[in-house]
Amino acid sequence: MMRWRQAIWEGTWWQRTRQRWKLALFLALVVPLIIPAFGRHVGPEKIGALLALAVLLAWYFWAPRCYRCGTRVMWFLFRNGGWHNAWRLQQCPACGDAARETDGASQ
Ligand SMILES: [Zn+2]
Repeated sequence: MMRWRQAIWEGTWWQRTRQRWKLALFLALVVPLIIPAFGRHVGPEKIGALLALAVLLAWYFWAPRCYRCGTRVMWFLFRNGGWHNAWRLQQCPACGDAARETDGASQ
């Protein structure tokens, strides 16, 4: 089986800042919520799923942040464009911090 879950974020800013779990959690929750939220059956489950989806989205834009400048990265990308590349980030879009631990050698 392909290790796609690792491959997506390997060597990215997400991995170096140890925030991959935020993307993983979002991915794990968004699919089981979208199905009832936009399904044809209208009932308490649908309202619950829509509310949960709203909370999840708010969290998704709020939670990932740069440890150096404190920018909410997803929200920053959403407002400034380029969020289609968000999951492949190599550095903070606000301050450019790449979160490399061995900075000395490369600069
Ligand atoms: Zn930053």
